[in-house]
Amino acid sequence: MRMPSNGLAFEEIERSMDELASGDIDWRRGRTPLYVFFANEAVAEVGQRAFNKFFSENALGGKRAFFSVARMEREVVAMALDLLNGGDNATGYMTSGGSESIFLAVKSARDWFRTRRGGNHALNMVLPYSAHPAFNKAAEAMDIEVRRVAVADDGRADVPAMTAAMDGNTFFLLGSAPCFPHGVIDPVAELGAVAESADAWLHVDACVGGYLTPFVERLGYDIPVCDFRVPAVRSLSADLHKYGFCPKPASTVFYRDAEDAERSRFDFDQWPNGQFSTATLVGTRPAGGVAAAWAVLNYLGIEGYTAIARQLMETRDAYIDGLLRVGGFEPVARPDLTIVNFRSNDDTDIFAVAEQMTERGWLVGLTQQPKGMHLMLSMKHREASEDYFNDLVASRDEARRLGRQGAVSASY
Ligand SMILES: *Cc1c(COP(=O)(O)O)cnc(C)c1O
Repeated sequence: MRMPSNGLAFEEIERSMDELASGDIDWRRGRTPLYVFFANEAVAEVGQRAFNKFFSENALGGKRAFFSVARMEREVVAMALDLLNGGDNATGYMTSGGSESIFLAVKSARDWFRTRRGGNHALNMVLPYSAHPAFNKAAEAMDIEVRRVAVADDGRADVPAMTAAMDGNTFFLLGSAPCFPHGVIDPVAELGAVAESADAWLHVDACVGGYLTPFVERLGYDIPVCDFRVPAVRSLSADLHKYGFCPKPASTVFYRDAEDAERSRFDFDQWPNGQFSTATLVGTRPAGGVAAAWAVLNYLGIEGYTAIARQLMETRDAYIDGLLRVGGFEPVARPDLTIVNFRSNDDTDIFAVAEQMTERGWLVGLTQQPKGMHLMLSMKHREASEDYFNDLVASRDEARRLGRQGAVSASY
């Protein structure tokens, strides 16, 4: 393709885009198991309108030009830290996503460890096998060894096994809240005890749950404590663009101590323009993402988020009940929040079921170990549940009839 020599009218461009999108998986009908987090039309509209209000501004210029944007960012961070029990000295930043939040936390932890131990140690981090790949991405960029340790039977981090994998160069431990594959919250308090005695940094990856657990707790669900109430937790990542229901790109990274937050910062002045200082990996950042998050948090408030959390947890229970009712399936783990990972409980290949679901227009989330299907539920799945279970039963029956392995692969 080449750029057209004369520009096209937007109407024509828009028609082309609609035509292109017609082949996409239909998230509006709940056909994607992840990628889009939808609360309701009103929340989506608030996010979109606020984003557009600050469409052209740049959060990079928050200190020198767009004071409003810097202020909104500070207030988003403050509201979230209040929910996550951050304490007086805690602070954080808005980022472009969980991967960037994780990168910054790993960098801060590494720099903290180097300050204590000097420069040239071969550092390693010990993670549950269920940790998000973003930790390996950060480790690869920073030349850090990663030790992933198999999880326990309940899908949670195996703390004794992780302890056994540590040595004197282990600077970083991780608990997820919850982990993406199985939807369970790791035992953060137990990890905290290990981190304290080994003098290691403990990070909580609450990219999925950071904007959900405070409200699920309020509803009375019994979930493990997984925020700054655990004294050893030094940093925490939480994605606004997942269960915060804010427009992409928007995530947050938090530190218990402002001093650790400063370790994320990059300062430089050896170029013609003088002092350049950013606390995030990216330079230019969309002010729209900041404004939209600020607007959505204020629009929903604690009551709004709690109401959504209630509906999501009911949806989760309805899906688990549905799986048990139709038969042939079992949950891989008992999810703490709203991720459902399930497998076949007979000799039907679950990937064969997934193949049939794919033919019926569903994008199927998969886990490879163990072989299973995977759903990260949002409100669109509540609306789609009847279609989902009708097609799941038909797919299961067809897979049984064919009696072969499914030609799908788990790839994200
Ligand atoms: C989504 C996710 C991430 C990465 O977030 P991005 O916004 O996609 O970069 C990290 N950890 C967990 C547990 C996640 O679910």
